[in-house]
Amino acid sequence: MFNKLLIANRGEIACRIIRTAQRLGIATVAVYSEADRNALHVQLADEAVHIGPAPARESYLVAERIIEAARSTGAQAIHPGYGFLSENAGFARACADNGICFVGPPTAAIEAMGSKSAAKHIMGEAGVPLVPGYHGDDQDPTLLRTEADRMGYPVLLKATAGGGGKGMRQVWSGDEFDAALAAAQRESSASFGDATMLVEKYLTKPRHVEVQVFCDNHGNGIYLAERDCSVQRRHQKVIEEAPAPGMTDALREAMGTTALQAAQAIDYRGAGTVEFLLDEDGSFYFMEMNTRLQVEHPVTEMITGQDLVEWQLLVASEEPLPLRQEQLVLRGHAFEARIYAEDPDNDFLPVTGKLAYLRPPTESAHVRVDTGVQQGDEISVYYDPMIAKLIVWDESRERALQRLASALADYRIGGTVTNLDFLYNLATCAPFQRAELDTGFIERHGELIF
Ligand code: ADP
Repeated sequence: MFNKLLIANRGEIACRIIRTAQRLGIATVAVYSEADRNALHVQLADEAVHIGPAPARESYLVAERIIEAARSTGAQAIHPGYGFLSENAGFARACADNGICFVGPPTAAIEAMGSKSAAKHIMGEAGVPLVPGYHGDDQDPTLLRTEADRMGYPVLLKATAGGGGKGMRQVWSGDEFDAALAAAQRESSASFGDATMLVEKYLTKPRHVEVQVFCDNHGNGIYLAERDCSVQRRHQKVIEEAPAPGMTDALREAMGTTALQAAQAIDYRGAGTVEFLLDEDGSFYFMEMNTRLQVEHPVTEMITGQDLVEWQLLVASEEPLPLRQEQLVLRGHAFEARIYAEDPDNDFLPVTGKLAYLRPPTESAHVRVDTGVQQGDEISVYYDPMIAKLIVWDESRERALQRLASALADYRIGGTVTNLDFLYNLATCAPFQRAELDTGFIERHGELIF
């Protein structure tokens, strides 16, 4: 195992990675922008290197600065966290070129999954089930329209370079197609500098169920059960849970082995997430593979009793996976709620300001708070306005949900508007308690939640 790790990230995920490294006796190096001079991740790390001005494209996204910080401090490995450079194949390659271990999958695996259409092509070849659709290079609007007509409406237009729900449009009939295509292409060009679209059948009441996988360099692979991330707002996750309610052992095994098949198809290493749409009839379809640690990984940690960052560091240092599939034990139920500085009464627009008062619920075996901010910190315009992730665990879904509701009620944040009340209303509404989950949940139950 290496003895010094640089964390190429900020906020809660940087803090979370530093804590595991410290527990394992690995020295840590933080990097920070001008806006983060006094940030928690800088305080927690053993050393910190200033890498530029506040805007991420001038600091956290500048690969050369980060590599230089690793070289000057003698860090042998870089953990990219999520977001920023975590799925940037060029960055992974630059690490290797400089003799630094990138804590993540091989460059080729990142590249293979970087485009949604290329990823679907590879997975289709590998026998992984896909939502029926068109994933080709030919982007002639008439051809795309013909494909949509052929598969039948509704269809979903998706930016192949997309992420975070951007560049997607539902199309309910042929008449709407041309306008929707133009709008999706515009959005995709603006956000990703690429207007390539794929067209697929739009499932009307699917669940988003994703499988956590891990592979090592010794030919071992394991799936660490699934997470249900169906509760979304504009295709962005709001509350996640593990295991997925109503999951049978047979379905878990089918999805788990399919996820491993997907990972093997790209010779995967380390932590990955294979996202599926699960239809009402129990069929599931590959959506995409995220080649990094996900925001919602703690719910998996809570039900497996494993530290996934530790696993990542083990795999990165060529160690075998700590467990075999049959040794994995699932216990209880976990939820994660994403607490944001945003205004639910104003279209969830991000809110900036000083966290004048901050009192999270008391942490215990049942309640975990992953955060990168302290009282007095500023939520700035520069980064994602997430304040914390609140994670709870208990023996059953019902009890875990009670824990979630009371922890949300205990959470005190003063000085900025947050989504705490929205999350509380969501966690306590009857259909959520009954686990009537699908990706349209929030839209359908708006009157109960707002
Ligand atoms: P992104 O990378 O932008 O998050 P994804 O491909 O992961 O995009 O899809 C995000 C969400 O969009 C999914 O969780 C699901 O709610 C919805 N979605 C994606 N594909 C379909 C589909 N074919 N039918 C219905 N909903 C879909």
